[in-house]
Amino acid sequence: MANVKVAVRVRPLSKRENAEEGRIIVEVDNKVAKVRNIKVFQDLGTSVLSGAFKGYNICLFAYGQTGSGKTYTMMGTPASVGLTPRICEGLFSRQDDYSEQPASCRVEVSFLEIYNERVRDLLKQSDHKKPYTLRVREHPETGPYVQGLSQHLVTDYKQVVGLLEEGIAKRITAATHIHDASSRSHAIFTIHYTQAILENNLPSEIASKINLVDLAGSERADPSYCKDRITEGANINKSLVTLGIVISTLAQNSQMFSSCQSINSITSEGDSSPVGSHTTGSVSGTRRQAYIPYRDSILTWLLKDSLGGNSKTIMVATISPASSSYNETMSTLRYASNAK
Ligand code: ADP
Ligand code: MG
Repeated sequence: MANVKVAVRVRPLSKRENAEEGRIIVEVDNKVAKVRNIKVFQDLGTSVLSGAFKGYNICLFAYGQTGSGKTYTMMGTPASVGLTPRICEGLFSRQDDYSEQPASCRVEVSFLEIYNERVRDLLKQSDHKKPYTLRVREHPETGPYVQGLSQHLVTDYKQVVGLLEEGIAKRITAATHIHDASSRSHAIFTIHYTQAILENNLPSEIASKINLVDLAGSERADPSYCKDRITEGANINKSLVTLGIVISTLAQNSQMFSSCQSINSITSEGDSSPVGSHTTGSVSGTRRQAYIPYRDSILTWLLKDSLGGNSKTIMVATISPASSSYNETMSTLRYASNAK
């Protein structure tokens, strides 16, 4: 499994786009369109599950302009179950052949929202006037965490769905206070999945963290979009811009790594030392990996141990098929392409 997986999802014309007599400018092959709803889970959800079962940290993002289908994809609607509940269902009804079944497993979830570089707990009562008060801190051993964020132990799928609905409802309530909150904020549903196993007859644990992220509208990363709007301070989304930089730097670093490896494997011909260790040593010695500015934003700081390194990143780019969205669609596709 590659470390970064990128998918694109096209939604049908909305009522408003239809009313504007929007032309469809994105073509979808009929055969692919027919299986689209099934494939989103089969292609992406099962990758998340198999990664989690093997103990990887995982980030699954939905990226795209406001109204393109991020929340529909991540959370779903009563008529169409989204990726987050389906992944939870998959954790509890593990009938897979991914790996050996653990003796037991523990599932803990948290749900937060980042708005204007501040964090709020979506599963805890917060002060109505000042809800975004939580801060990110860094533990020397376990890494970044949100101080005071509630963690909820869940033992079945129904409980997770209950918490998910509670958090989504809270996000919507806030939207009436802050204009257009969901286009400006990021929601992260985190699942801590811990498997108890026996290793050489000794009890041991495999811990994995799954971050399911419904990002702010991608137009918030575009200075030209925000320039002509009266500023409220949160128009350009720092976390979204930094995420773009982090993901493309990670992609460049991994490309550099693979090109260095192929160069080194040629120069190491005839060398009797093991190729793997020789190659790795040469890479760090000759070319430096670009610095990754995780701590430049709350979103990337918090996701630091689930992006890059030994973790799996999956991005779903959601786009509108309408001609009115041409510029945003091109920009989203460019972003998706830079992430590869
Ligand atoms: P976003 O979260 O990106 O702002 P939404 O997920 O709220 O966008 O989607 C906007 C509208 O389009 C919603 O009414 C949603 O139900 C609908 N929609 C989005 N994606 C799809 C899809 N793949 N199929 C059908 N309807 C969709
Ligand atoms: Mg949304």
